[in-house]
Amino acid sequence: MIKVKNLKKQFGNNVVLKDISVAIEKGEVISVIGPSGSGKSTFLKMISGIYPPTNGILDVSGKISSMFELATGFEMESSGWDNIYLRGLMLGETPKSIKEKMKEIAEFSELGEFLDMPVKYYSSGMFVRLAFSVSTAIKPDILLLDEVVAAGDASFLKKAEKRMNEMIDIAKIMVLVTHSMNTAKDLTNRCLWFEKGEILMDGQPEKVIEEYLKNMKE
Ligand code: ADP
Ligand code: MG
Repeated sequence: MIKVKNLKKQFGNNVVLKDISVAIEKGEVISVIGPSGSGKSTFLKMISGIYPPTNGILDVSGKISSMFELATGFEMESSGWDNIYLRGLMLGETPKSIKEKMKEIAEFSELGEFLDMPVKYYSSGMFVRLAFSVSTAIKPDILLLDEVVAAGDASFLKKAEKRMNEMIDIAKIMVLVTHSMNTAKDLTNRCLWFEKGEILMDGQPEKVIEEYLKNMKE
C-alpha cells in the first residue's frame, strides 16, 4: 500500500513536487506519464525512500524493488555475478536467499559468459537485462520501474513484458514511468499524468492518455 498526502519536494529553491496526494492499493498497476522534468522520477524515488519529503505524508508498506536510471547501483569494476549478489542484498535479500536465486536470475538475463566480466564493459541493453532480472526475481510487494526497461532490445522487451504480467497476477503494486503510451494502455489499469510537479489527471489509461495527447497537440 502506498499513501501519499500533500507531498512536497523541493531541491534548493526548485519546487519539484507541489502537492501530491494519491493512494495506491494492492493489485493496482500504475503508469506515470508526463513531459520531461515534470517530477515523475522524483516521485518514484520518494516512494522508494531515496529522497525524503520536504513536506507532507508518505506512507509505504511492503518490500520494494526498484529500477531507476541505467547504471545506478552497479559496481562497475565487479562482475555481473557479483552485481547480482550485491543488488539482491540491496533489495532486501539475505546472502542465503540471493544465492538460491542467482542461477534463475542469470538465466533470465541471458547474459551467459558476460556475467564473468566487469559490468563496465556492458552495453545499455545488457544493463537493462541485468537490472530487470534482479529487480523482478526478488518478488517484491511493490515494483517501481523508471523508463529504463525501454532501453532493452526487442526480444528482451517481450520477455520483460511477460514477466511484468506475471507480477501483476500476483496482485502486488507496480508503478511504471513510461514514455510509451502503448505500454501504459496494455500493461496498466490506472494512469497518473504529471505536469509541473502536480498530478493533472488520474484515471483509466485510455482516458488519461487521450487527454494527454490532445493537450500535447495544442
Ligand atoms: P522527470 O522524471 O519527469 O523527467 P525529474 O523528477 O527527473 O522529472 O525532475 C524534475 C525536476 O527535479 C527537474 O527540474 C530536475 O532538475 C530536478 N531534480 C531531480 N533530482 C534532483 C536532485 N537530486 N537535485 C536537484 N534537482 C533535482
Ligand atoms: Mg525521469
